[in-house]
Amino acid sequence: MIHKIGENISVFRDDLYPFLGGGNKGRKMDAMAKDIIAQNANALVTTGGFQSNHCRAVAIFAAQYKMKCSLVLHGSEKEFERQSGNAKVMRLSGADIIFVSKADEIGTTMDRAMMNYEKAGLKPYYIWGGGHTLEGGLAYINAIKELKDYCDENNWVPDYIFHASGTGSTQSGILAGLDKYGFEKTRVIGISVGRKSEQATRIVDDFYKDLCSHYDIACLNRESIVLDDYLMGGYAQYNSELKELSLNSIKEYGFTLDTCYTGKAFYGMLDFIERNNINDKNILFWHTGGIFNFLAD
Ligand SMILES: *Cc1c(COP(=O)(O)O)cnc(C)c1O
Repeated sequence: MIHKIGENISVFRDDLYPFLGGGNKGRKMDAMAKDIIAQNANALVTTGGFQSNHCRAVAIFAAQYKMKCSLVLHGSEKEFERQSGNAKVMRLSGADIIFVSKADEIGTTMDRAMMNYEKAGLKPYYIWGGGHTLEGGLAYINAIKELKDYCDENNWVPDYIFHASGTGSTQSGILAGLDKYGFEKTRVIGISVGRKSEQATRIVDDFYKDLCSHYDIACLNRESIVLDDYLMGGYAQYNSELKELSLNSIKEYGFTLDTCYTGKAFYGMLDFIERNNINDKNILFWHTGGIFNFLAD
């Protein structure tokens, strides 16, 4: 679903993706469903932070399909119990939540959760944090078909697509999808929410090429661009300007912009448009979600 918010700016409303609590993690998880069901899995194991949109989508999926679910979260249980938003959804989903105090314990703890399910006679399915999987990328290749239909109907083509970039699978999927559906001139600007540009760009670029080869797409080798100019100190950090943009987002635009993901991307987009004098270009803001993050603080 796409709508205009200004003369040249439109928004792709993946925050309103209809399943699993929405957002790009809902879309990615839905794309994984086929493989999970094909493998007859009946238990899911994944990881993320206390406000992880990915863990929330996995937890809701498990509840809907009556599967077991283990979420390995990094941090203190006491703090988790206090939090709202995604943490509240996870708590109430029926998932088994396992806390680790050190980040380097996540991998072994996930492996143990897998083993415990196997010992109990179940068939567990391992999901990388953030839903960074081929199917997660495919979800965005397919989402570009929705964009294509909109563009054909409205005789409009974006010159630029801006969005929040984390693990990179959303961006890689968009790039591969643009190749597949013939958007030759559209440029994608990922706004990094945590990683430095060099690392983020390499990951997006590699995964973009993996997706093209895996899904048989003629790769146009477009430039992978991930900007780290708006990190504001790192993942989940923000400044007072971004906080204000977030608090005014409903009033100004009619949708939420959280401070961790979409607010950063929107802030970066506005700044980029101004600095590069591209007010007259067709701009698409890809709203990746974050409603629960917005509601959590
Ligand atoms: C995870 C997330 C992102 C980043 O998506 P990636 O595919 O990991 O790059 C952006 N916005 C929101 C709201 C997210 O939850």
